[in-house]
This record gives sequence, structure tokens and C-alpha cells, in this order.
Amino acid sequence: MSYTPKYFSKDEMTCNCCGELPEGGINEELLEKLDQLREKVGEPVHVTCMYRCPPHNAAVGGARYSQHLYGLAADIYVDGLTVDELADIATDIGFRGVERNYDLDYVHVDVREDTYYWYHENGDDITCDSRGNAI
Ligand SMILES: [Zn+2]
Ligand SMILES: [Zn+2]
Repeated sequence: MSYTPKYFSKDEMTCNCCGELPEGGINEELLEKLDQLREKVGEPVHVTCMYRCPPHNAAVGGARYSQHLYGLAADIYVDGLTVDELADIATDIGFRGVERNYDLDYVHVDVREDTYYWYHENGDDITCDSRGNAI
């Protein structure tokens, strides 16, 4: 890994079940953007999940081709910021995948190829625009 994040430790990047990293490590753009987010927010950005190995992804019911499997995604929250406030900042920074998870109070960010915004509420995924309005 050539980009060493300023604010995120290896513990926060590895799979919660086995402590592994994906082949090639966590995507550099993801880590750079997470650092930018941390600087903009000015508060600790808590990571609940970054890399997920395939068995762990299956165990938590992750999407079959979840960006977490490839080290391209992170689930985050910041004390004192709402899901919408954090998601708006993440969108401004340029994360291309942003999920507002209202059920579990976190924001999923990723660096997939094409932009995709959605929110998760009452167990459903609903496609939305960059500001979280259903479309
Ligand atoms: Zn694992
Ligand atoms: Zn996620």
C-alpha cells in the first residue's frame, strides 16, 4: 500500500472476523477520501467496517458483489452528525457510492466507478439523488 492514511489505523481497515486485508490492500482513493472527510469534519470518523472477507460478507448478509469485498468501501459514523449531514459531506468530497443507512445510523461510502446514491430505511434500499431525495 503506497498511501498511508493519516487518520485510519490498520485495525480499522481489516476484516472484523479474521483481521485480513484484500489482496493489494485497501484502495488508495478510498483512504485519501476518508482522510479528506476526516479533515473536513474535524472530528473522529468511526469506521464500523472496511474490508470484509467473503465468508464474513456472507455472514452479515452483504451484497454478493459488495464493494467491501474489494477494499473499496467503508461504513462510517461521526458522533454529533446525522446520517444526512455526514452523507452530504461525503458526497461533496466525491465518494461515488453513498448510502444513507437510517435503520442502523451509519453512512456507507465507496469509490465504485459510476455514481450511485441510495438510502436504506425500514429494510429497503431506495435509489436517491445526491441529496438523499428519493427518485
Ligand atoms: Zn474475515
Ligand atoms: Zn457498507
